Amino acid sequence: MPTFVGKNKKEIFGKIRDRVEAKLQGWKMGLFSQVGKEILIKAVVQALPCYVMSCFRISKGINHEIESMIARFWWGVNSKKHKIHWGSWEKMCKLKENGGMGFRALEDFNQALLAKQGWKIMTNHDCLLARVMKALYFPNNNFLEAKLGHFSSNIWRGILWGRELLLKGYHWVIGNGQSVRINEDPWIPRGAPFTLRTKKVEEIASWFHKEDIPWVLGITPSRERDDTIGWSLTPSGHYTVASGYKLRFRDPNIAECSVNSANRAWWKVVWGSRLTPKMKIFIWRVFHNWIPVKTELNKRGMSMDNTCNRCKSHVEDVCHALWNCPNLHKVWKHFGYLHLFPSSLRQAPNFLMVMKGKLSKEEFMFFIGITWLIWYRRNKCIFQNKDIEDKIWIPWAMEMMELHLATDQAHPYQKHSKDTVRWSPPLPGTFIINTDASLIDGQPGCG
Ligand SMILES: [Zn+2]
Repeated sequence: MPTFVGKNKKEIFGKIRDRVEAKLQGWKMGLFSQVGKEILIKAVVQALPCYVMSCFRISKGINHEIESMIARFWWGVNSKKHKIHWGSWEKMCKLKENGGMGFRALEDFNQALLAKQGWKIMTNHDCLLARVMKALYFPNNNFLEAKLGHFSSNIWRGILWGRELLLKGYHWVIGNGQSVRINEDPWIPRGAPFTLRTKKVEEIASWFHKEDIPWVLGITPSRERDDTIGWSLTPSGHYTVASGYKLRFRDPNIAECSVNSANRAWWKVVWGSRLTPKMKIFIWRVFHNWIPVKTELNKRGMSMDNTCNRCKSHVEDVCHALWNCPNLHKVWKHFGYLHLFPSSLRQAPNFLMVMKGKLSKEEFMFFIGITWLIWYRRNKCIFQNKDIEDKIWIPWAMEMMELHLATDQAHPYQKHSKDTVRWSPPLPGTFIINTDASLIDGQPGCG
């Protein structure tokens, strides 16, 4: 990475984009499932620009280009074959518990990384970075008051941009009180359970708003200790990039509305369950109506007949394709779910939420697993013209579920082996020597 980024920053930041592009093109899209792609994106692609991002503010344009490349990779779009971007990048950047895929919004992550540099300057005045920046940009005041000068470097511009994030979450921890301005600075630590520790309540009551008084009284000042800076979003009071990044979700444009407490509980169950990663991503797509049933394809501009291929009498929306098609009744009845299906709901998220409310955790996992298998059966029928009779498919599906969602109960074989392999003490007056040996085929010796 260059230490000096001047007017050619567009070219230098463009190199990051090129590296991401080269990495993505090096992977054959068709080889990876979305489960594999999620890991590659999070562990490799999004880590590529991190180092540069922790020093400089990357332009919106470059961030956007990188995010578009990642989105194309995720949805399997390349130049030869058209595929649909089912969900916006913004939605995929939501936290997993809020219905997203937890991908990084690069601009916000960039700011959280630069805030870390600002945090160092704020809290460790002796470090080299703090000393250099103070000498150059704020020799006569402190970091919080420092301004952008006419000849500021890109590094300093980036740090001041990171400071904007710190201003949303820092507070003063009162020591001797000399650094803190009573009206301007954030120093009342609301949120912690403070108790009354002074007798001069009447005096304080005349200075502060009555709701602030308990907080003020809870502070224990100390003449021996300087005022220090704390971070309100971590238990330790120290800034972390992850906590800075999470501030983005407080933005009312990004934060979810009130319905989401139920949604959040739902996602926690799904992501934390024993479902396989493929099933989890599948149900994530179902929840958002992001699977290629005919009505959804039509909505996205692919003009086609909406009729279900199996029953040839209803429109194929998500609920129909997975649960409501009359041709699936026998399957769902066999597994004991049909009578629980809500008859009036036509939206997948509502359907899933209702089913979640009616089923135990285990039953719900099984229900999602069978839904996943039905989807693959439907695709095989449409694209390979292969359909399997219910009487063969049902036992097979049962076996698949047992394989994928194996419970914690010990396997019969393991139970058996546990009973037979058991050490017992030797009889009185006799000795037992336990030994072990291994041989390597084709090589002399043993060990
Ligand atoms: Zn149908």
